[in-house]
Amino acid sequence: VNGTPGELSPRADNFAAGPAALPEEVLLAVRDELWSFAGTGTGILEYGHRTELFARTLGDAREAARRLLGLGEEFEILFLPGGATLHFAMVPMNFLAKGTVADHLLTGTWPRKCLAEAKKVGATAVAFDGTSTAFDHVPDAAEIRPAADAAYLHYCSNNTVEGTQFAAPPASDAPLVCDMTGDLFTRRFPHERHALTYAAAQKNLGPSGAVLAIARKNFLARANPGLPTMLSYAEHAKAGSVLNTPNVFAVHVMGHMFRWIERNGGLTGMERRNRDKASLVYGLMDARPEFFRSVVRRDSRSMVSVPFRLPTAELERELLAASEAAGFRGLAGHHSIGGVRVSLHNAVSVEATARLVEFLEEFARRG
Ligand code: PMP
Repeated sequence: VNGTPGELSPRADNFAAGPAALPEEVLLAVRDELWSFAGTGTGILEYGHRTELFARTLGDAREAARRLLGLGEEFEILFLPGGATLHFAMVPMNFLAKGTVADHLLTGTWPRKCLAEAKKVGATAVAFDGTSTAFDHVPDAAEIRPAADAAYLHYCSNNTVEGTQFAAPPASDAPLVCDMTGDLFTRRFPHERHALTYAAAQKNLGPSGAVLAIARKNFLARANPGLPTMLSYAEHAKAGSVLNTPNVFAVHVMGHMFRWIERNGGLTGMERRNRDKASLVYGLMDARPEFFRSVVRRDSRSMVSVPFRLPTAELERELLAASEAAGFRGLAGHHSIGGVRVSLHNAVSVEATARLVEFLEEFARRG
């Protein structure tokens, strides 16, 4: 055993895309709860999911999420298995009935994976295809060609690999379904305009392998009734997210995160904090565009996922090595495209971002 119990080792500044940083006060609370949850003498990883205390934990987390999102009882808030990739398949299994079509906005790597899953289930259409411009932007209304009578329109609000983000949901006559894995709870957003929103938890909400979904009840009513139980959103809703043994730990940590977000000004507070962090990084990139090279169109810039290239692959390797040595983590770009990526998810502090920007500035000066 290293050190005495209670002694904390130093932590790095974590800019990973996910699993991403969590607030220290949440980690410290959870650390104690691993030993004994709410004074019960049993740790949270060992705690029963059919207990009154867990029912309260889940109920409190659900209602905190509802308050933050500003949604009423016409929406179900669901804690589900995942990650988001499972939902790429579950969405069409539930809502893409025979004879209908799932419309997709193809804005990047994750939307492409999502479309591929939907194709395995049924008929799809692509209302916007960003491939030809290398996914450098998200479409405006004029670029979207919706399919007639689509069962739903699926889009991804924040493209974590490419670094683009929708400022507002796309206009659509079809019910909107959104993968908000990158940016749920990072800003104010008109959640009520969506039929279904889902997000894997590991970026802004907690542990990986868990998903938070928000579903309009009258959309759930249309779901395929013949699915295996665990693949049915409606069955999860009917069982209050406790269809089987749920991820007790993930639900509990998400509850902590919702309360942390509430203490820090709710979605308005998160948006301000995330905007401040993003302006620090974009400020540097705009000052040195020949060194920090962005391929993202300015009007589509993401507040939480900021990828860039350096003039050479050699410089990128040097930067990644030097950043690790300086105590920064998680700056390598997505393995599919390489480069550098600064992920600024909720728990990343403004102070840590300022430290990183200072380091990058110095690196560019030397480079
Ligand atoms: N959608 C987006 C936008 C993502 O960034 C990711 C993961 N980085 C996924 C979906 C897939 O999530 P998971 O690994 O939890 O399946």
